[in-house]
Amino acid sequence: MTDGSSPGAAATAARQRIDPFLEVRGLKKYFPVKGGVLNRTIANVQAVDDVSFDVAKGETLGIVGESGCGKSTTARLLMRLIEPDSGTVHFDGRLIGADNGIPIREMRRQVQMVFQDSYSSLNARLPVEETVAFGPIVHGIPRPEARERARRLLYDVGLDASRFMKRYPHELSGGQRQRVNVARALALQPRILILDEAVSALDKSVEAQVLNLLLDLKQEYDLTYVFISHDLNVVQYVSDRVLVMYLGQVVEIGPVDEIYANPRHPYTRALLSSRPSMDPELRITEPPLSGDPPNPINPPSGCRFHTRCAFANEVCARASPVLSTFGDDTRHEIACHMLSPGSGHPDAPAPS
Ligand code: SF4
Repeated sequence: MTDGSSPGAAATAARQRIDPFLEVRGLKKYFPVKGGVLNRTIANVQAVDDVSFDVAKGETLGIVGESGCGKSTTARLLMRLIEPDSGTVHFDGRLIGADNGIPIREMRRQVQMVFQDSYSSLNARLPVEETVAFGPIVHGIPRPEARERARRLLYDVGLDASRFMKRYPHELSGGQRQRVNVARALALQPRILILDEAVSALDKSVEAQVLNLLLDLKQEYDLTYVFISHDLNVVQYVSDRVLVMYLGQVVEIGPVDEIYANPRHPYTRALLSSRPSMDPELRITEPPLSGDPPNPINPPSGCRFHTRCAFANEVCARASPVLSTFGDDTRHEIACHMLSPGSGHPDAPAPS
């Protein structure tokens, strides 16, 4: 990886005030599109482009955005399930994958992931007890001790080990399977859990149970969460801070209460206005998002949201906005010319 010192990364690094447990700078991943007689690269899907953020120890960072915005690719890059084109990730102050940093294998013990599809995440031929004990056994923990740990974890995630430990994935409900996945993720005693749409496939009643379980486990095991979801209500319920992504880039990041009560970026405002609310006070009267997101193979120039933004101006198509603080709250950052002093946008505040 490179040092990831893009303008956005540098600006974010300079401003963020939290003590980072996970520090992401200038992360970038383009997927080549092959074609032609010679099967050459003819284009690139710009899945993640210059993404930077921090996660503090013990917090839950929610990541939201439409399908295809790069949320899940970001999660896979954090776990190094795919190699980034550039950018850096530090875990607890150590650069992941560097000679003098933290080896990827060691990082994967401390950072675990729970996926959306609870069935394909499990080995259909392994009973529950073996599934949960597998990781510790691979990492050298004696089999009896690993099995005892598995039984304890099953109990902690709300499954009676005596009833469930010999069952196979097809004998479990979706909620039970996801509990097993959480137990398996905890089996190596990680410090960070990345939850990628982990409750999205569950029925609403089961979803609430698993969410509350995750909140309890976070306290009990002293965990840090990166919680990825397209469900804005769920993200609000579990998160301390929220990061909003659009077409592979971060457009807004800040404390959850601040962003949900006072969203600044036009995309965040449109996104939040599209969620149903029973409370008229909480409804944001904003023009709804129109049209589909642009093709990530050929994203719009300048601000990638300008083709759908009601406030777009000539400067928006020309220059890419950089994440900057707005007002006094240094924790709330927005990438929008309209909010950047001296950006050239007619609605931008005057430079101080
Ligand atoms: Fe809209 Fe321009 Fe702001 Fe982008 S930079 S969100 S196009 S006003």
